[in-house]
Amino acid sequence: MQQTLSIIKPDAIEKNLIGKILSRFEENNLKVIAAKMLHLTKEKAQKFYEVHKDKPFYNDLVESITSGPVLVSILYGEDAIQKNRKIMGATDPQKADKGTIRKDFATNIDRNAVHGSDSVENAKIEVSFFFKENEIFIR
Ligand code: ADP
Ligand code: MG
Repeated sequence: MQQTLSIIKPDAIEKNLIGKILSRFEENNLKVIAAKMLHLTKEKAQKFYEVHKDKPFYNDLVESITSGPVLVSILYGEDAIQKNRKIMGATDPQKADKGTIRKDFATNIDRNAVHGSDSVENAKIEVSFFFKENEIFIR
């Protein structure tokens, strides 16, 4: 069993898609064991996306994730990290498979609806970036 960090990004919140996106996780046996809505500061967003700081899209990425509130959650279940990546679909929604969140709900690669941790190591780092132990409810 694994925990993975999920973020519903501002573009999807703006489109009123929180419920539809969380349903995709629940339908695939992932449990929401922690959740909060917040508006990331520029500093916090820069830190969260620090691994991308040398990429050409870094500034746009920080601008996009701070453009409105996000819903940050922890998903829990068997193979949660890879399962979530599969449910999300490819980074570029134009390349995402049918039935994935990004295919169905994303606007474009800059506004691609969701974030999900990509490895066991990063899931641990990202979960503790947003949540304290007593905010996580494994069930
Ligand atoms: P993912 O979110 O699928 O893990 P990455 O970690 O590679 O993708 O990138 C983080 C985010 O940066 C992506 O979700 C996307 O919003 C943005 N991004 C990635 N690659 C590009 C790109 N080539 N052009 C613009 N934005 C990008
Ligand atoms: Mg990533």
